[in-house]
Amino acid sequence: MIHPWQRDPWQRLVATRARPAHALLLSGARGQGKRNFAEAYAAHLLCSRPDEHGFACGTCAQCCLRLSDNHPDLLRIIPAADQAEPESAPGKTKPSTQIVIEQVRQLREQLAVTGHQSDTRVVIVDPAEAMNSNTANALLKLLEEPPEGTRFLLVSAMPRRLLPTIRSRCQHWPFPRPEPAAARAWLREHGGAGDDALLALSGNMPLAAAQLAQMDGARLRQRFISDLLSMPPRDAVMVAGDWDAWLRAKDTSAAGFTLVRLIEWMLRWVWDLSATRLGGQARYFPDCQTDFTRLAAPAGNAAMLDCYNALVQIHRAASHPLNVRLVLEDMLLRYARALAPSRSPR
Ligand SMILES: [Zn+2]
Repeated sequence: MIHPWQRDPWQRLVATRARPAHALLLSGARGQGKRNFAEAYAAHLLCSRPDEHGFACGTCAQCCLRLSDNHPDLLRIIPAADQAEPESAPGKTKPSTQIVIEQVRQLREQLAVTGHQSDTRVVIVDPAEAMNSNTANALLKLLEEPPEGTRFLLVSAMPRRLLPTIRSRCQHWPFPRPEPAAARAWLREHGGAGDDALLALSGNMPLAAAQLAQMDGARLRQRFISDLLSMPPRDAVMVAGDWDAWLRAKDTSAAGFTLVRLIEWMLRWVWDLSATRLGGQARYFPDCQTDFTRLAAPAGNAAMLDCYNALVQIHRAASHPLNVRLVLEDMLLRYARALAPSRSPR
């Protein structure tokens, strides 16, 4: 299935059917359905008789194998945490959010075996930025000498984090952001009526907004906003303590609301504040425009920018935090400092 905003890249890509590239890099902001696109394109490549628009027929032998999840020539290299049934029994370690080198080693063995179903094999790597440099180098070897008929589809929201050597081996397909009207229409059709606030918070990415809606994002968002607006009089350390408990709460972690996501929201909040400070409009929390105007007035431009840059660094290190409470305190103290009246006009 592709989404309405993906029609143009789809048409251009299926037009290359006679000579498809051996490796594609599908890139674009998270939450617009790039993986669905990659799956649809893999189906197209494997299908024996795609329809006039290039969509897989759904009935040929290849499609039947694929639809029963048994196609030996469709291989997915995705983090254990993203797999349909991640091993998460109590007592076991959490499934990895990284693509581990063992997965690429197994892939190499699978690709070395002949006697598969068709002339084409498709490997989906998603998200490609979830590979560390060892894993990426192992994949690079396969990209450099691809087995006959093998097509690699790398999916990435952060293509700049990939090794330049990996990028240069791929034909790059950047996806533009969906038009706001198309995003809103899709969200409404998929049970997200009235979720304009979540769509804005998701940077206008409809699938990300739908996922947020599913995890009761409206309530989480409301709590996030009211806690930030309570500072001052409440201080950063106090709110950090509350947020630490919030992240640990059963319903919060079950919903998938993590430290990384909380920092992402914070980045967006400070982005809106900075935009307001510079005379622009809030993009992620448009309903808080009045609050931003009030909060941003005493702050200095340089202090806001410093805070934003610090948050980017905190976000980078946040997938393996040593101490969540300290990360939250650091983040909120920097934020509180940025909002304090600037001593000298800058
Ligand atoms: Zn088919």
